[in-house]
Amino acid sequence: MRVADFPSNTKSQDAGRYHPQSEIDMSNLHDTICALSTAPGRAGIAVVRLSGPESFPLVRKIFIADGPEGEPAARRVTLGTIVEPGSGGSLDRALVTRFPAPGSYTGEDVAEISLHGSPVLVAALLEHLCSMGARLAEPGEFTMRAFLNGRMDLAQAEAVHDVIQATTLYQAQVAARQRAGQISRELGPIEKALMDVIVQLEAAVEFVEEDLTLDSRAALAGKMESISGGMRQWIDSFRRGRIVRDGFSMAIVGKPNVGKSSLFNALLRQDRSIVTEMPGTTRDLVSEFTSLEGIPVRLLDTAGVRASGDKVEQLGVDRSLQAIADADTILFVVDVSLKPDGEDEDLRRRLQGLSCIVVLNKCDLAGRWTDSEKNLFAGEWPRLEASAKTGAHIDLLQKEILDHLFGAQRDGILVTNLRHCRCLESAEEHLRRAASALHEGISEEFVLVDLHAGLQELGAITGKTSTEELLGEIFSRFCIGK
Ligand code: GDP
Repeated sequence: MRVADFPSNTKSQDAGRYHPQSEIDMSNLHDTICALSTAPGRAGIAVVRLSGPESFPLVRKIFIADGPEGEPAARRVTLGTIVEPGSGGSLDRALVTRFPAPGSYTGEDVAEISLHGSPVLVAALLEHLCSMGARLAEPGEFTMRAFLNGRMDLAQAEAVHDVIQATTLYQAQVAARQRAGQISRELGPIEKALMDVIVQLEAAVEFVEEDLTLDSRAALAGKMESISGGMRQWIDSFRRGRIVRDGFSMAIVGKPNVGKSSLFNALLRQDRSIVTEMPGTTRDLVSEFTSLEGIPVRLLDTAGVRASGDKVEQLGVDRSLQAIADADTILFVVDVSLKPDGEDEDLRRRLQGLSCIVVLNKCDLAGRWTDSEKNLFAGEWPRLEASAKTGAHIDLLQKEILDHLFGAQRDGILVTNLRHCRCLESAEEHLRRAASALHEGISEEFVLVDLHAGLQELGAITGKTSTEELLGEIFSRFCIGK
């Protein structure tokens, strides 16, 4: 790649949708790589990072420290001048920090050069480094090297990406815990328990004369079931974890004029939707992003869902029905200042089976609904009285939404990564199969095949067992320079 082709690392902003053109090439991991590690564009400073065996010799060629020490001291910031390799002319003033292997981010010799945040200077510096033997880093290559050099496990490396991608502080905190090794720490006892079962079974296979008694078969199967039960909890947590990582979508639904747009604005705490007294004003979908206790939410204000002779309004209604079907949860708004009517009932029937919270809006006005009407109408769905106009109970509604999505359990294990969830599901399946094989008296060798496969799946989460293809897939989603 020529320096002029240096891609912007803005693909990081689009990580979920970015499909890599090329897999990471594992054959050139001993090259010295360089990249802009700060965001591209003009800024106060820019940090260019180097990693690999030639990092320090390259720094010596292009950087002259101000002081008498010559080469910048390890892990100390040194002020000096970046010079053009050919002419020796000054390119910029800069700060250089050297991080010698193996205690660096990548486990290799790493140098960080902080220069003025000018794209022209950055491009020139990268070009000089490449002309002297370095090459531009692939996306995620610094972190992949950190993983391959044992500086972090795969789950931690993936969490580095999540920390960078976080759009709320809460998401960043969850990712930071995983970055600090939470997953491997909590997975350790599960792997160990599985290893213990494997060792006992291997021993039984090794010493054929010591055939497993029925009792010990049942005891081992019991252990496997308890391990797979533990895994189930992890798998179940993904429902919440997915929401924490990706956010959720919530559609506001109700017949015209019940206060959907007002509620939309109240939840957004800003006037985004047009509020009028004329039914049918919200002709199309209006959507906005906000967050609830640090969880990103895509809020959709739907057009009143009713049959309409007006073609434009009907188009809005159709789009609303689609959004309702796609939403993670629905706020079903009714107006308690008017008696429930056929339109409310019709909508209630359409929403049957979906995840809804009934909002009894306009509670600031004299209520017309009796308690039994409210109960009958909401049925199994949670319900809550609120006023979008005065803001009454909007805070309770926000809490109810999160309780509804997360259930009672809000703490403990949280699997946020789909890949981890898939590995756990597969491991759990192997364990369940092994346990039932043991109950059925099937030979230990066959049981062991499933147990080893289960262990392999768990190992894939932290990268003990990972393929080149998988690593390429994971790291190519990263931004360049990370
Ligand atoms: P939509 O058609 O369902 O989106 O309803 P709007 O949000 O446009 O509101 C319709 C009318 O109801 C407007 O005049 C709002 O000011 C009024 N409204 C909305 N929510 C409340 C509320 O909680 N209390 C009262 N008193 N009026 C409300």
